[in-house]
Amino acid sequence: MQGYVDCHCHISAGDFDKDVEEVIENSKKAGLLALLAVAEHSREFKKIIELSQRYPGFIFPCLGVHPVQEVSPEQQRGACLQDLDAALPIIEKYKDQLVAIGEVGLDFTPRYVRSDTDKENQRLVLIRQAQIAKELDLPLNVHSRSAGRPTIQLLKEQGVKKVLLHAFDGKPSVAMEGVKAGYFFSIPPSIIRSEQKQKLVKQLPLENICLETDSPALGPEKQVRNEPKNICVSAEYISKIKGVSLEEVMEVTTQNALQLFPKLKAAIRP
Ligand SMILES: [Zn+2]
Repeated sequence: MQGYVDCHCHISAGDFDKDVEEVIENSKKAGLLALLAVAEHSREFKKIIELSQRYPGFIFPCLGVHPVQEVSPEQQRGACLQDLDAALPIIEKYKDQLVAIGEVGLDFTPRYVRSDTDKENQRLVLIRQAQIAKELDLPLNVHSRSAGRPTIQLLKEQGVKKVLLHAFDGKPSVAMEGVKAGYFFSIPPSIIRSEQKQKLVKQLPLENICLETDSPALGPEKQVRNEPKNICVSAEYISKIKGVSLEEVMEVTTQNALQLFPKLKAAIRP
């Protein structure tokens, strides 16, 4: 098995409308075998399914409602149960094609949560989607910001077993609580400029690490569009921190991805 899996990527973002073909080609040249396309809101679900049909065996769809919802490009708010109304019928329709439910999670950044009610609403949205993931036997592709501990706690309480925590921003000691539960953590290319991510990778066992780009965000350079081809930036940096070969990082992280997202086996031979 020679190649990487991007476990969390926003390939449906408008940033890629003009040159998605070239972006995909370049990512394959960089060694990418598969990419998980995650959603933030129900309005982009159709586009994600279409992209997965246009690139079968390479783009794998994940549908879910993100804890932060856009009212307008300038205004965002925390998610509430009503946001699931449009989403759930589409998830049901495409359930057999999905490799995970996501992007879901908790985001307690002060500008999105002004009260305990806002936090509670996000929790309800996550709990409902965690239930659906369990019913469908699908993993969760999880966002947490300023909410590492409550996110892991909630997932454990809900008895969720298959979890990817993407771009985790909490303390390594909190992340280790996730490791104990068998959760995986995906590391974006922004690790090269984030001391917090470097500390996290030092602590996490390689057996719990996956790769992601979160394109177009979290790239190696701030304010520059991130692309799935930058997956190797994450891999190279992890190999440096862990003191293991790049081949080993590739091998172990891809095995981890296959373990967590078994539907990828259709495209990648273990
Ligand atoms: Zn994301």
